Amino acid sequence: MKEKEHSPVSTEVTPASEVRDVIIVGSGPAGYTAAIYTARADLKPLMIAGSVTAGGELMNTTDVENFPGFPDGIMGPDLMENLGQQAEKFGTEVMYDDVTSVELEGAIKTVTLADGQEFKARTVIISTGSAYRELGVDGEKRLVGHGVSSCATCDGFFFKGQDIAVIGGGDSAMEEAIFLTKFAATVTVVHRRDSLRASKIMAERALKHPKIKFIWNSEVVSVEGEAKVTGARLNNLVTGEQSDLAVTGLFVAIGNDPRVDLVKGVLELTEAGTIAVESRSSKTSIKGVFAAGDVVDPTYRQAITAAGSGCVAALDVEHYLAEQDS
Ligand code: NAP
Repeated sequence: MKEKEHSPVSTEVTPASEVRDVIIVGSGPAGYTAAIYTARADLKPLMIAGSVTAGGELMNTTDVENFPGFPDGIMGPDLMENLGQQAEKFGTEVMYDDVTSVELEGAIKTVTLADGQEFKARTVIISTGSAYRELGVDGEKRLVGHGVSSCATCDGFFFKGQDIAVIGGGDSAMEEAIFLTKFAATVTVVHRRDSLRASKIMAERALKHPKIKFIWNSEVVSVEGEAKVTGARLNNLVTGEQSDLAVTGLFVAIGNDPRVDLVKGVLELTEAGTIAVESRSSKTSIKGVFAAGDVVDPTYRQAITAAGSGCVAALDVEHYLAEQDS
């Protein structure tokens, strides 16, 4: 078991062979909130946090200005560190590993990790979040790490003084574009429509930024470059004209898709591809299996709504276990 630097306060570690009350798969705001609540309910949750994805999407974010309780904002990774500490303080066991398969039918569920270890529990909370969406154009995959990126905070530093592009018109794209102005000479936002989807405050910040330019009504047809990105071929969706944009970096910020690979064909999904849950609850199509956060939410997808839904899942777990025991 990989331990985090600060050990949990509880020294009682449940042996792997024992059937636990709850296993939480995923460690974004939803997973950690579910952990805090189930730990405080003395359910001794085991969280499988992910090996490289631990902490979820907020680990790739800079300032979070809209999470209630932080009037001066908080850095995404700091918020996740705080949530992790709070979860461990009440006795959550955290493993920084990946779940490769789940058996969810029946009263006892089994969760298997990449190294083959198996853990059993009466309930499982799936809070696997979402993954960056790809453009799906020529050159994109090949040039990831060589100019193509989905994470400005991770890679922005490498583009000092360069001309780069951000693709997308939502809050993520505006946030990335604004952040990248710290390093880049110019940031060109390429958006497929003539207006932004981003919230007004983010859109205005980007629109009035002297280093940010916009190319409207345009899609990326291909990413150009042999060993490194040298540009992007664009198609104007109104005129049909194609053009070349000379950039050395291309940040794709066109949204996310729910991470449901683990439960595809096992749990019922919605048309939007998220895990289907019963009305406002976190109950999935299998009894004793609950889901929370971005993986169930095609609409709101905020850190605070994910946290709220993690709380709902924890309370649903408590009620379910109480019913089973009565
Ligand atoms: P989003 O709101 O879904 O926006 C995705 C953008 O990418 C849209 O402008 C969309 O175009 C464009 N797009 C989608 N697929 C595309 C494709 N194949 N080719 C080209 N463009 C494509 O996603 P998001 O920006 O990641 O935001 C997700 C949620 O997180 C939102 O609720 C947002 O408010 C929230 N968020 C908040 C903050 C913040 O408050 N600081 C920061 C980041 C994200 P169309 O507009 O034409 O659909």
